[in-house]
Amino acid sequence: MKLAFFSTKSYDKEFFDPYHQQEIDLKYFEVRLYKDTANLAKGYDGVCVFVHDDLDEETLAILAENGVKFVVLRCAGFNNVNLAAAEKLGINVYRVPAYSPEAVAEHAIALILTLNRKTHKAYNRIREGNFSLERLRGFNLHGKTVGVIGTGKIGSIFAKNMKGFGCNIIAYDKFENKEIIEQGGTYVSFEKLLEQSDIISLHCPLNPETKHIINKESFKLMKDGMMLINTSRGPLINTVDTIEALKSGKLGYLGIDVYEQEEQLFFKDLSESVIKDDIIARLISFPNVLITAHQGFLTKEALQQIAEVTIQNIKDFKAGNATNNQLKV
Ligand code: NAD
Repeated sequence: MKLAFFSTKSYDKEFFDPYHQQEIDLKYFEVRLYKDTANLAKGYDGVCVFVHDDLDEETLAILAENGVKFVVLRCAGFNNVNLAAAEKLGINVYRVPAYSPEAVAEHAIALILTLNRKTHKAYNRIREGNFSLERLRGFNLHGKTVGVIGTGKIGSIFAKNMKGFGCNIIAYDKFENKEIIEQGGTYVSFEKLLEQSDIISLHCPLNPETKHIINKESFKLMKDGMMLINTSRGPLINTVDTIEALKSGKLGYLGIDVYEQEEQLFFKDLSESVIKDDIIARLISFPNVLITAHQGFLTKEALQQIAEVTIQNIKDFKAGNATNNQLKV
């Protein structure tokens, strides 16, 4: 089996190299897969892709013409793949539905703790010999109300961990997860969650229903000075409305691991380039905004699981085995 591996980073090689040639013939490409790079896959049986690869109808058609028969995603979300087009072209698509949900839940908590206790600022100050405590005041998490939107694998672990800090957990999801209730959490309406939360963390997938679920109308219902965390997908938040909420003080803290236009920025070293995206430039300018570049998944446990499940998906494709990891329309 020959596999063209797109959007390759050093950490991908570290975890996929052990399978190279033993189980699969891997060719790494650093470029993103989209219509202009799809011809690189000529002569390969399958492609392995990540969150910023764009498998729209045109790209999939080029892959099919070049003999590609399967796509293995190294992630859970599949909003970047046109599944209907893949099915029409006879390309099988697989994903890694869960890889250490703890990794993302813990990253959301890292954003909360950093924004609140300002350890990033303290670290820099002390390296410059500034031992002042001015403007480093935080608040106790104990006793605060945390609203969890989307209580699947990641959201329920996040809720359990925040319960451990002594927070009161309220949740909103289309389907109730009994683990939330067993942990002492309460399901409320979307509006009540916005009204009552001191901290809101987003853990629902991106789909037409959830796009811009946080917008200027939702900010109106929120407490003044609340904290918003998004480790799920950038377009869940209307970024322009979020900037207005930050400017008015409605939003007191913003922690994001994902961003609406992240494809042009994230996973790249642009330190010597002019950033042309004025929206992220404005976000970066706020002292109460913390941005990480989609690193929620980046733990050794998660990367190990991604590699193992991806290789198993390829073996299942080869053997013609039915698997729940295969995506159907
Ligand atoms: P999951 O499928 O286990 O849970 C998603 C939950 O969202 C489900 O309970 C579902 O019912 C709920 N949901 C769906 N539509 C909803 C709506 N309209 N309103 C409220 N809830 C809704 O998924 P998961 O494994 O917990 O992952 C959640 C998201 O995290 C993924 O979709 C992905 O976008 C994101 N993610 C980010 C990273 C990262 O590195 N930052 C890594 C993995 C996943």
